[in-house]
Amino acid sequence: MLKVDGINVYYGNIQALKEVSLEINEGEIVTLIGANGAGKSTLLKTISGLLKPKRGKVNFKGDEIAGKAAQSIVKMGISHVPEGRRVFSNMTVEENLELGAFLRKDKEGIKEDFNKVYDLFPRLLERKKQQAGTLSGGEQQMLAMGRALMARPRLLLLDEPSMGLAPLLVKTIFRVITEINETGTTILLVEQNAHMALSIANRAYVIETGRVVLSGTAAELNESEQVKMAYLGGH
Ligand code: ATP
Repeated sequence: MLKVDGINVYYGNIQALKEVSLEINEGEIVTLIGANGAGKSTLLKTISGLLKPKRGKVNFKGDEIAGKAAQSIVKMGISHVPEGRRVFSNMTVEENLELGAFLRKDKEGIKEDFNKVYDLFPRLLERKKQQAGTLSGGEQQMLAMGRALMARPRLLLLDEPSMGLAPLLVKTIFRVITEINETGTTILLVEQNAHMALSIANRAYVIETGRVVLSGTAAELNESEQVKMAYLGGH
């Protein structure tokens, strides 16, 4: 479904991604593991069109998308939930969700997706008239994910959805990610919480200082000494 092939991405003179390649098959949950600053967010931003690679290709369902406008990439079926949530604070929950669907014209489909999002996150339904800026961190994460789903993506990019959340909420968010995947959305998940990420993923890539250094099935990486030492607290 998605094929990233040898991309180099720079911020000015600083190279953040070096010859990065990865593949995601339809229906998978693929996770990207790596320390702070490894380049995970940069990779997601490149896929969603916020950054342009200097070299390399990004192919989505047969189309070359590297360098296309972010809006066209959303239209093609990729939604990005950025790190730190970024909801529109002065708008209500409902208005934020509406914005997620702004490129769509299928009124019926949009209505269906409102219901789907409220089924996944009943908390958002209870708070649909509330200003997004007054939601808790966990609720804002739910809203950011809900807003991305309103574009009816085929591929959902999630950047650190569990960051800063209490353990119980982390569990909820991971359960919902699995549910979203089961209803047919492919997922690329960036996580610091490697343990949780590997527990729901099919496959994983480990990225260190801008390079992919290891990849395999989630089960393989769970057993890898390198991963255990560096990302699973040595367990
Ligand atoms: P984190 O989990 O801390 O977000 P990450 O793996 O997502 O880490 P990136 O945010 O992709 O890492 O950053 C990769 C490298 O690029 C880092 O060295 C970072 O300092 C640098 N970088 C990121 N954004 C910019 C920017 N806007 N300008 C310059 N350098 C940047």
